[in-house]
Amino acid sequence: VSQASWPPGTECVAKYNFQGSTEQDLPFCKGDLLTIISVTKDPNWYKAKNSVGREGMIPANYAQKREGVKSGGKLSLMPWFHGKITREQAERLLYPPETGLFLARESTNYPGDYTLCVSCDGKVEHYRIIYHSGKLSIDEEEYFDNLIELVRVFGVKLSGHEADTIGNGEFGDVMVGDYRGTKVAVKCIKHDATAQAFLAEASVMTQLRHTNLVQLLGVIVEEQGSLCIVTEYMTKGSLVDYLRSRGRTVLGGECLLKFSLDVCEAMEYLEANNFVHRDLAARNVLVSDDNIAKVSDFGLTKEASSTQDTAKLPVKWTSPEALREKRFSTKSDVWSYGVLLWEIYSFGRVPYPRIPLKEVVPRVEKGYRMEAPDGCPVAVYDLMKQCWTLDPAGRPSFRLLREKLQHIRAKELHL
Ligand code: AMP
Repeated sequence: VSQASWPPGTECVAKYNFQGSTEQDLPFCKGDLLTIISVTKDPNWYKAKNSVGREGMIPANYAQKREGVKSGGKLSLMPWFHGKITREQAERLLYPPETGLFLARESTNYPGDYTLCVSCDGKVEHYRIIYHSGKLSIDEEEYFDNLIELVRVFGVKLSGHEADTIGNGEFGDVMVGDYRGTKVAVKCIKHDATAQAFLAEASVMTQLRHTNLVQLLGVIVEEQGSLCIVTEYMTKGSLVDYLRSRGRTVLGGECLLKFSLDVCEAMEYLEANNFVHRDLAARNVLVSDDNIAKVSDFGLTKEASSTQDTAKLPVKWTSPEALREKRFSTKSDVWSYGVLLWEIYSFGRVPYPRIPLKEVVPRVEKGYRMEAPDGCPVAVYDLMKQCWTLDPAGRPSFRLLREKLQHIRAKELHL
């Protein structure tokens, strides 16, 4: 019986150990990954290379083509995929045990298969992923087309949804994941057009780096066009929730000014890089473990703002010219920053309280502006009003705003 032919580039997994009998042979161990280089005259032998690049002849019946398990995308981009590691290594990676942490690895006992490892109540469970008629399953009840889909649904199911999902945003669930021992946030974007718009800018965004920007770590593109965004994990959640939950009694003026400056510095950086945020608001600012405010969700709103769908725009934060003519610019971000300052100093209140949504824009265009929040320093309220100049050209730059805020801080500290 002749072997099915394996073209160059085919990946195989060794079924048995092979020591080789001549210099030309490539010795390998059960489970090793081998890549076919070329066929030979003898259909039972292939020229192949191992994972460190050593080349030689291999007997075809000692290896099997690595197929069956479809990954559903680039597995190497998955923060939870750890390749060929042992059971013990997997358990070390999931240490300290925290219910909900999980990873997937290549099975060592069953080369070509995968194992899902989930930390649950202080113990790591290892689930073999069963491959049956082109589909994958853990429980043989629910079947998945590929590994990424299985992990997305099953990784969450096994680990308990509560433990894993840290938030629900307008674009989809946000989950906590593990990437090489570091906690990361994984946001899955369900909406197709948003995913496309985000991807168009992803390469720019990975290059944007600033202490006050939530760092984008990677993007997972899935077959169906949906997308997961991996970012640094911000333990204290969104700024608006942080302000509301702590309130006036906990957060002093110094703290509010520090948050205002943090955000302003990130925006000064985006301004210098000609990157327009379009959805700057306290809900899109996150707080790190060490209380640093970082701007998040940049690049996610292009789609809503470039289509006709103005209904999706956050009216109370968006500048009049952006709402009316879709004129988004750094200056429209400055307008939103003014509203964000108001949110900070009012400890997370919803802007324009007691004004019906549809009256906000007409009233603002006639000159109405929000009052200063209780206890807000005059110098800070002054900056808000400058941000809310009707003519975009009349608004300050983020650079100027940052300088003024630093000035206010220096004065407060010296008093
Ligand atoms: P979003 O989709 O950005 O609106 O996120 C919804 C919620 O998920 C936020 O309010 C946060 O509580 C949480 N969240 C989003 N991103 C992160 C992150 N990088 N780290 C921690 N929590 C996050």
